[in-house]
Amino acid sequence: MLAKYRSAVQNDHGWEVELTCPSCGHTALPRYDGWTPDTSINFGSTPTMFALIACSKCAHDLRDVAGKQLVAMFSDMAVSKLNKRLIAYFVVGVVLVVALPIIVQFAFKPKFHVASFGAILFVPLIFVFNYRVVSMRKRCTCGAPKYIFMGLLGRSYCYRCSNCARLLRLRD
Ligand SMILES: [Zn+2]
Ligand SMILES: [Zn+2]
Repeated sequence: MLAKYRSAVQNDHGWEVELTCPSCGHTALPRYDGWTPDTSINFGSTPTMFALIACSKCAHDLRDVAGKQLVAMFSDMAVSKLNKRLIAYFVVGVVLVVALPIIVQFAFKPKFHVASFGAILFVPLIFVFNYRVVSMRKRCTCGAPKYIFMGLLGRSYCYRCSNCARLLRLRD
């Protein structure tokens, strides 16, 4: 079950947008050489690129250019309403399963430990929340969703559907 969850949550990294090489001036789809983890945390509208992309003509590193392109494509785009609602539900859920039992514990001092019961529920809550956010990129208006993860803008995830070029910005 965990393996199934992991494969569902996994991102398909890639880059399928044309870029202009500052070194040779060539405009084309860049060469995609896989991706590398980046653990730096950026806020606001700073892009974080994972994809290793280079000019298809002169092999110049195009990650900076791609980062600028990511900002241009996604900075005007809001995180979807459904995603925001899920975050709100998650916050309410955390209050219900974590904060409320702790309050009950201290206020009424019941015989069984209500607070630890809440802690047990906390983990599945995170799983359900993440799964719901992930399921948003299993759907597309084109009917054949294939979302490629392009990078992070601040703390939100930027995706582009391979089939119809629809853009999607998600937060978890
Ligand atoms: Zn070039
Ligand atoms: Zn699509």
